Amino acid sequence: MDFIIIETFDNYIEANLMMGRLEEAGINCWLKDEQTVTLNPILSNAIGGIKLMIEKNDTDKATEILNAIKEIKRKSFACPHCGSHNIEYITTSRKPSNVISALFTWMLGSYAIGVEQVWHCYDCNEEFEKPVELNNELYKNTDESEQ
Ligand SMILES: [Zn+2]
Repeated sequence: MDFIIIETFDNYIEANLMMGRLEEAGINCWLKDEQTVTLNPILSNAIGGIKLMIEKNDTDKATEILNAIKEIKRKSFACPHCGSHNIEYITTSRKPSNVISALFTWMLGSYAIGVEQVWHCYDCNEEFEKPVELNNELYKNTDESEQ
């Protein structure tokens, strides 16, 4: 059976959310490098993040589902500064200024909390902890199914 990477993620929550949605649709999928990224987020960029793997035959179906989720997400969250939907949840370790501090945290042994995640707005370039939530149904449903 041929498996391909349909999407890569730099955070565990997002990767699992997407995997859950594909599984609900009956698509056989799994996460590659999940452990590595979760245990050592600093390595995430180096190894290319958590990879969502699917069977090649399911590519069209999976792409359709992932695009639909992204569209819902895009409409669900807005930048608190300018109201744009052009925002993304990113790790701050991508920025050079924070790699040093992340490295220090890693050396001190608490690397798991050394990488912070923030929302970034591509329109006004602001970063913020919480976007304006317009419709949080996507995440609510996931929480309930995990309990
Ligand atoms: Zn903005």
